[in-house]
Amino acid sequence: MKAAVFEKPNHLLIVQRSLRTLRADEVLVRVVSCGVCGTDVHIVKGESRSTPPVILGHEYSGTIEDVGSAVKDFLQGQQVAVDPNICCGTCYFCRRGEVHLCSNLRALGVDIDGGMAEFCIVPEQQLYRLPEHFPMNASAFIEPVSCVLHGIDRAKIKVGDSVVILGSGTIGLMMLQLVRSAGASVTIVVEPSEQKRMIAQKLGASYVLNPNEMNVQDVVMDISGVGADVVIECVGKTSTSQSALHLARRGGTVEFFGVCPIDKTFPIEPNQVYFKELTIVGSYVNPLTFDRAIKALASGIIKVDDFPIKRFPLENVHEALRYQEEGLTIKSIIEPQTV
Ligand SMILES: [Zn+2]
Ligand SMILES: [Zn+2]
Repeated sequence: MKAAVFEKPNHLLIVQRSLRTLRADEVLVRVVSCGVCGTDVHIVKGESRSTPPVILGHEYSGTIEDVGSAVKDFLQGQQVAVDPNICCGTCYFCRRGEVHLCSNLRALGVDIDGGMAEFCIVPEQQLYRLPEHFPMNASAFIEPVSCVLHGIDRAKIKVGDSVVILGSGTIGLMMLQLVRSAGASVTIVVEPSEQKRMIAQKLGASYVLNPNEMNVQDVVMDISGVGADVVIECVGKTSTSQSALHLARRGGTVEFFGVCPIDKTFPIEPNQVYFKELTIVGSYVNPLTFDRAIKALASGIIKVDDFPIKRFPLENVHEALRYQEEGLTIKSIIEPQTV
């Protein structure tokens, strides 16, 4: 089969790989679609941790081709999505139920061969059945939605809250929809790209602000009177992370959801955190949120129909990564069965 293998920084190659035989608890998945994520871009540049050589791709779904001898709950032909994050079950964190903080966490598409290939071998415990009529164009979004769901859980939004979302790429647009369904009365999206602002508007944002044309802090103050109850940073830049602290009201919550590059820092005035009594939270991957992510997409709580996605055959993986990195699409999706 064909696969996109990350060998070392700046070496992502399309190679021919043979499939090994399935172990008893494994399932062979024919990959139908695999989303490209910022993490993939960072891995290829050598800016994010991975265990090469490895087939990339951790946002994927497909149909079951074959099952191992001990697999009971899955059958050939079923549509499935894959939770890529595999925890050990026995470390300190796993035994506290914080499986995403597992000391031995490994991920398909990062440490173990993933979905940028015609087929992928997946441990049964990582598989989720997709409901009938699940929109296949939504399937590459299940993994990112599962992460955003954890972010919503961490943000602890109360009905009636005013919420600022910094950035409306894939993550910000999904966050917006969950913030609205969590009961926010006012949603303010801050995004420099006109195209992305228009999608945010269509998805029901109360206000969409272009940070290049206005003083966002003044406008948020005008709208809310006191600053936002909750500010969620979905860009992954230190500049937006810093401004998030200024946009939150006294007693407000700031969530750093976007992934800033390792080692990048910005100054914080601890007296302001004290005086404003800010709550600052992080949100890391997707602890046991995969099932709810599938339901959020299947039920239409999160809609991705308006997302301008771009599909690529596996051979064009470099182009797919470039489109994602340069923001030429909301989501690059690789379809390994397409030639
Ligand atoms: Zn991802
Ligand atoms: Zn563990």
